[in-house]
Amino acid sequence: AKKTARGEAILFTPRHEREMQSMGQVDQALRAADLETELQVFLQPQFDLELNRTYGFEALARWNSATLGPVSPEQFIRVAETSGLIRKITQILLRKTLHLVTSWPEHLHVSFNLSGHDLMSPVSVSDILDLVKQSGIDPARIEFEITETAMMSDIDQARRSIERIAALGCRLALDDFGSGYSSFSYLHQLPVSKIKIDRSFVVPLLKDASASKIIQTIINLGRSLDLDCVVEGVESIAELDILKGMHARFIQGYIFGKPMEAKGVLPYLAAEARA
Ligand code: C2E
Ligand code: CA
Ligand code: CA
Ligand code: CA
Repeated sequence: AKKTARGEAILFTPRHEREMQSMGQVDQALRAADLETELQVFLQPQFDLELNRTYGFEALARWNSATLGPVSPEQFIRVAETSGLIRKITQILLRKTLHLVTSWPEHLHVSFNLSGHDLMSPVSVSDILDLVKQSGIDPARIEFEITETAMMSDIDQARRSIERIAALGCRLALDDFGSGYSSFSYLHQLPVSKIKIDRSFVVPLLKDASASKIIQTIINLGRSLDLDCVVEGVESIAELDILKGMHARFIQGYIFGKPMEAKGVLPYLAAEARA
């Protein structure tokens, strides 16, 4: 931290300063990176309790920076959104993801996270649609996850983009559902077919009766609106049992598998088939 003559810290606490430095470092490293080789796609299973098998995988970005080492996606995506690199990163990750999916069994779906910046640019959306078309993958197997913060800056533009994606036959999922302020108002404004219940509702599930009521309410809401529900961040058998009792259908969390390297997917499915 900056110090006065008497040695008192001013302006920033050390913690703030560290964060600000690292944002700058991340920004610099991101601009200098060879993103094609440094960015990787990890995949985390989503389990279908109704069909009792893996439904698909969510693609999650990993960046092993040549200069900084591994940087968390939360951090580098946020920096990339500020610097404008996010649209390029989305293209690279989506192309890599779709390439991986071409070697999967055809019943499997893939979920891909979009940033609000992707939705705000009609050109980016066109590029996304082109990648889907060029991949030859049935668009019905591809889901795009969007958060409500992604849409806040311009809901009309977001809606136009989402409608174009839906028109191609891809599904849309509302991510981190319940964690924001306006989740419900987006539901009827947008062609979403799925909601992902935020992990923050699962964490207190075993201790707090109101958390389980909230999850049950969202599941019921989804059912009455004909929306699928994914519960995210399920780690324990105890949590899973409660969710089964609520007739939750889709589960994503460490209980079924952590995000894994692409080459882990087929062995994971083979182990599931043997189980
Ligand atoms: P998200 O989309 O909500 O992804 C779920 C996050 O929860 C992932 O963190 C996943 O590893 C973690 N998770 C899943 N199951 C469990 C569990 O049982 N316990 C715990 N403690 N955590 C669990 P990750 O991979 O670090 O990603 C963090 C966030 O970064 C994502 O949150 C998403 O907002 C963003 N992100 C990741 N990849 C991409 C990407 O390709 N594009 C964009 N735009 N954002 C991405
Ligand atoms: Ca997500
Ligand atoms: Ca989420
Ligand atoms: Ca999240």
